Amino acid sequence: MKVFKFGGASVKSAETVRSIGTILRKYNEPLVVVISAMGKTTNALERVVHAQVNGDKTKARAELDQIKDFHMSIVEDLDSNADHGLITELNAVFTGLYTAVDEDPTGYYNRDYDQIVPWGEILSTLIVSSHLNSAGLTNEWVDIRQYLKTDSTFREGRVDWNLSTHLIQDRFRFHARELYITQGFIGSTVNNLTTTLGREGSDYTAAVIAYILDAESVTVWKDVPGVLNADPKWFDNTVKLDRISYMDAIELAYYGTSVIHPKTIQPLKNKGIKLYVRSFLDPDEPGTVIGNETYDKLIPSFIFKMDQVLIHIHPVDFSFIAEDHLEKIFRCVAGYGLKINLMQNSAVSFDICVNNDRSRIPGILEDLGKDFRVTCTNNLELVTIRYYDDATISRVLVNKDLLLTQRTKSTIQMVVRDKG
Ligand code: ASP
Ligand code: MG
Repeated sequence: MKVFKFGGASVKSAETVRSIGTILRKYNEPLVVVISAMGKTTNALERVVHAQVNGDKTKARAELDQIKDFHMSIVEDLDSNADHGLITELNAVFTGLYTAVDEDPTGYYNRDYDQIVPWGEILSTLIVSSHLNSAGLTNEWVDIRQYLKTDSTFREGRVDWNLSTHLIQDRFRFHARELYITQGFIGSTVNNLTTTLGREGSDYTAAVIAYILDAESVTVWKDVPGVLNADPKWFDNTVKLDRISYMDAIELAYYGTSVIHPKTIQPLKNKGIKLYVRSFLDPDEPGTVIGNETYDKLIPSFIFKMDQVLIHIHPVDFSFIAEDHLEKIFRCVAGYGLKINLMQNSAVSFDICVNNDRSRIPGILEDLGKDFRVTCTNNLELVTIRYYDDATISRVLVNKDLLLTQRTKSTIQMVVRDKG
């Protein structure tokens, strides 16, 4: 069997939903299809939570109205005589959501978030499943929350592999059915409280299911031709990578390539399950394959992180940076849940490069300021090049000042700033 995953862009309109049907028709074999929320619904639901938590029920309801209109218009476009059962189910979801936002916030933001945001995936899979059924692609809709079990770390649920393995193997049986439609990104605790696996977590869901069911491969269908060597937003003349090794995929994801979720590769690598990244707009193109690949020509990949901050930390007494300093620094940064994108120390200073996270950095600066002399440089970019050479480095340094460099044999990272 194979696992397919369709992301938000592939379910953002009736037209794209139809293209899922077109693709599935080409595969006469057992499939589990994992689907994300439609278009930008997850962001919209985050705004609902935000409004609700801030006590702005009017705003929360107005956001919900828009989400409802968006879904209903897709249903209408797909089939103006949409199945009555579907409309009833969708209405029931919205009734639940309107009731939820009318309640007062509990004070547990992450848990509240996980009770609202996951409905985007439920809505999209109900719609797609119903559409495929009426288009003759008989399928079964599965509520993955009952089978993919996590701990109760809301918004970052960690998969309970033992429990999920039993439940998922028991649920997806291919002699009974060839095609299952289910949700990415969501699961639930042993007490059946819904959890999410972290933003963009649907790829990971696909990998978890593939691992548990010993799938032959996972295919992530996207609106790009495959994994590119740079984000076209920041870079001209990108090229598609035809093949990537698991290790390179993990490295690229770690440095911030947005195409694959960092957690996704590991389970696939452990079982040697191939991951294809392909375009739902060009389903006959091969896309990119990630597996136990080797290659003779290494194509440089570029990863750009914008709006970076370099925090310089010095012991107040000009003493050397020692383990106890590092312990304090890491404890502080981890306590705020901020990820360090790059770090470097000299004898008397320690520099960390982080995203300009305005909700966390002021607190971190204040806390570190109790033990260290701390200064900050803003408006920076972090450029990572995997398989760099001199030409690629020169290319990204045009009109930039270089503040910090770190390199290994295969990867260079540079913190740069526009020449002023
Ligand atoms: N819908 C979720 C998100 O946008 C999960 C996903 O798309 O992978 O984060
Ligand atoms: Mg999404």
